[in-house]
Amino acid sequence: MHSTDNTRGRNIAVIGAGLAGAVFTHRLLSSGYNVTVFDKSRGTGGRHASSRIGNNSADLGSPYFDTAAPEFRAWLSAQPELTDWQAVITDFDGLAAESLRLYTATPSQSALTRSLLRGATLVTSTRIKDIWPEADGVIVRDEEGKVMGHFSKVIVATPAPQAAPLLEANPSFARKAASVQTRASWILIITLNQPSGLAADVLQGKHPVLARAIKDSAKPARYVSQRAEVWALEANSEWSELNIDSDPGTVSKTLTGAFQALTDTPLEVAETRIHRWLYARQRSDTNNTHLWSDMTGIGVCGDWLHGTGELTIADSESAWRSANALADHLIGGNCRQLSPNNIVSCAP
Ligand SMILES: Cc1cc2nc3c(=O)[nH]c(=O)nc-3n(C[C@H](O)[C@H](O)[C@H](O)COP(=O)(O)OP(=O)(O)OC[C@H]3O[C@@H](n4cnc5c(N)ncnc54)[C@H](O)[C@@H]3O)c2cc1C
Repeated sequence: MHSTDNTRGRNIAVIGAGLAGAVFTHRLLSSGYNVTVFDKSRGTGGRHASSRIGNNSADLGSPYFDTAAPEFRAWLSAQPELTDWQAVITDFDGLAAESLRLYTATPSQSALTRSLLRGATLVTSTRIKDIWPEADGVIVRDEEGKVMGHFSKVIVATPAPQAAPLLEANPSFARKAASVQTRASWILIITLNQPSGLAADVLQGKHPVLARAIKDSAKPARYVSQRAEVWALEANSEWSELNIDSDPGTVSKTLTGAFQALTDTPLEVAETRIHRWLYARQRSDTNNTHLWSDMTGIGVCGDWLHGTGELTIADSESAWRSANALADHLIGGNCRQLSPNNIVSCAP
């Protein structure tokens, strides 16, 4: 995969096909760059991934986009894969809670990154182990030491704990990444043969085990085959951290039990799919929206580079802002700086 285009500076590699990597890639592709995107997973989306369960698919990570920020909302509204979801939201006692305008991608959340990455060379199921600046560009190697190419620039768009070992050529970047705190999250997808009887589409709030229960099958334009309902049960951070090394079968039983207790109808569970996100949420106090070194040709974007300077839990919006901030820095663009913290506002 050795490239000959390095010297012209338009041959870029991105490590990570999550929202940050995809938004950054889309901006660079629109400016005529060649972009190769590597991801260790089989598909795209990162923490916006979706998964097959029986004959259905469901969102395994972040279930929807919600934001009060007009510039992010404008961008979300302009994405053809995203639809408004007027979800009924209650707390776990069934009392109505505040509702925000939600956006979901169709046919599943990963459709957004798939679309943004169209035009890039996508290399999946490939974990990048090493990036290092050399005379003919930044070299990228996989975990077997195989050379995946030389690139004029390499962008790391992974969660902070996975970025730190890739950033040895930029020790100050590696130190920043290593200082980020992370919280795990267990998530269980279940399909039901009979309706649960729950009126809400999203239940959230205080609960000893659950953070949210989301009726995936209630999202707009979701096709549900054979089953009555599909639910995503997200354990809360405290419970997930306490049970981080628990047996998946036991976790699955506990989450199903917690959900069963919310409904009067005996659940007829047809299929289950359990997943542990080790780095579900990241907390940092960085005042950087992105990292870039002219010296090495290596840059970083991702949700953890939220740029507020306060201890903040990173989210999809911060991934989007970070990717745009790095793209602006490298190619200029239609974004303007709103604050000294480099908070950017971008036209869709
Ligand atoms: C269960 C859950 C619920 C959430 N709920 C919400 C919510 O309601 N609202 C919200 O705003 N946010 C939510 N989030 C957080 C949100 O999903 C993230 O903030 C956002 O998706 C981060 O995007 P990213 O591109 O920075 O990182 P990621 O999505 O993590 O993408 C990084 C990519 O890098 C790849 N990668 C890592 N290391 C390597 C390597 N060495 N080589 C190759 N590839 C590599 C990974 O496979 C991944 O695809 C939730 C997250 C989870 C897990």
